[in-house]
Amino acid sequence: MGAPPAFTHTADVGHWISGRAVPGAGERRQPVFNPTTGEVSRQVVLAGVEDVNAAVAAARAAQPAWGDTPPIRRARILNNFLALMNQHRDTLAAMITAEHGKVFTDAQGEVTRGIDIIEFACGAPQLLKGDYTDQVSTGIDNWTLRQPLGVVAGITPFNFPCMVPCWMFPVALACGNAFILKPSERDPSASLFMAELLKQAGLPDGVFSVVQGDKVAVDALLAHSDVSALSFVGSTPIAQYIYETGAHHGKRVQALGGAKNHMVVMPDADLDQAVDALIGSAYGSAGERCMAISVAVLVGDVADRIVPRLAERARTLKVKNGMELDAEMGPIVTRQALERIEGYIGVGVEEGARLVVDGRGLKVPGFEGGFFTGGTLFDHVTPAMRIYKEEIFGPVLACVRVPDFASALDLVNAHEYGNGVSCFTGDGNVAREFARRIQVGMVGINVPIPVPMAWHGFGGWKKSLFGDLHAYGEEGIRFYTKQKSVMQRWASSIGKGAEFVMPTAK
Ligand code: NAD
Repeated sequence: MGAPPAFTHTADVGHWISGRAVPGAGERRQPVFNPTTGEVSRQVVLAGVEDVNAAVAAARAAQPAWGDTPPIRRARILNNFLALMNQHRDTLAAMITAEHGKVFTDAQGEVTRGIDIIEFACGAPQLLKGDYTDQVSTGIDNWTLRQPLGVVAGITPFNFPCMVPCWMFPVALACGNAFILKPSERDPSASLFMAELLKQAGLPDGVFSVVQGDKVAVDALLAHSDVSALSFVGSTPIAQYIYETGAHHGKRVQALGGAKNHMVVMPDADLDQAVDALIGSAYGSAGERCMAISVAVLVGDVADRIVPRLAERARTLKVKNGMELDAEMGPIVTRQALERIEGYIGVGVEEGARLVVDGRGLKVPGFEGGFFTGGTLFDHVTPAMRIYKEEIFGPVLACVRVPDFASALDLVNAHEYGNGVSCFTGDGNVAREFARRIQVGMVGINVPIPVPMAWHGFGGWKKSLFGDLHAYGEEGIRFYTKQKSVMQRWASSIGKGAEFVMPTAK
């Protein structure tokens, strides 16, 4: 592979409304950092209520014609978008690395997983077709169809600035809705780039908008009477707030929250595979993934066999500028996030966990101002500790020792989060029992990060998801449409006189 393209834009990042980039009405700005250097690369404009109102008005004006467009023609536009996303995959990946810090090869993977959902959305006409019953009563037919909700919005986190928006808008657009994206203010550039590609693909103006911003923009979307539904992905306290406030305003809401994902390693597991899986899933993307493994549950004698091997690998991780193609881990997104993560490591030490590898204070030569920390490994972590209970969202792996499979199940099931989980074992029956009994939405058997494929849908349980329907897949189609049932009878079959009893099949 050649050198990845550099992303060096410095102009302010504004909104995208009515099919064009606009600077916005307000004066508020927030710095966007390059986490590798620690320098401010550009400023993002923060929307006020009037910017949100302008985006909603444009969406509302454009949606009826888009909703009336035959699904196959909508899908063709998404198909054009799919081709453009494939063409510009590396540009998007470089943009993500420049603002998020994750390594370029991982950013390429993120874009690819986003593209998977666009491919799925291109086939939406098959899922939008209704069903039909001829002759539910004599001369009467009944069918159901699914219609768009109207204007819908998505609020997304910093850790997947391309993939998580793609969990939402391709499906929402395929269903005939107009979509407003409020991306994370920490890495906002990918959203505008995708808006430009949608326009090039032939999407009518107003059908897709971007409002950059913070709580002000989110609250304006929550309160706006013309926004029918909200999809949210981010931390649990905000997910709960979005769910409750959205419901208060009568909106349909799916709000995906935080996580604390466990990987159970059974004594009969292939330990080479388990070590690779733990290292990749705990430290990949510097642990800033909602599906990262942050707890290793080591059953029986596994701990004594595996911890020294994990320590060796954690100590020798290649932590560097993510644009270097052999980098395994880049910097943390912001200094504030870095301080929070390193603060948690201090808490773990105070709580009495054994700090096997301490990643704090790492300096990468040439990038001394960057937001780097190394991989951290704790052993002898207990369920009472904060480093076990709380989401750290950084490259910190906590090992908990348990005597047997039943205690491993109890431990995972007692945790308040239930996003992803994994079990490494060589025993099919243990694997089967694990998959059946575990109280978690996404389960991996000898797979550390079981992010479901585009047509299966993504969603956790417990405090990892508020709402009924998962993101993308058929649940996504259901979320972005409402069902209508039509019953028809034509004059020649209409009986005589009013009927005062509940109609039944005749
Ligand atoms: P965050 O909750 O801080 O922010 C998410 C979004 O909410 C952003 O767009 C932000 O601008 C907005 N926001 C922040 N504070 C707000 C407030 N007070 N009121 C209204 N809106 C607000 O999350 P983050 O730090 O960007 O992302 C990391 C979190 O996201 C982690 O907790 C991670 O587990 C979670 N996450 C979950 C999933 C999942 O699928 N369950 C996927 C990715 C990330």
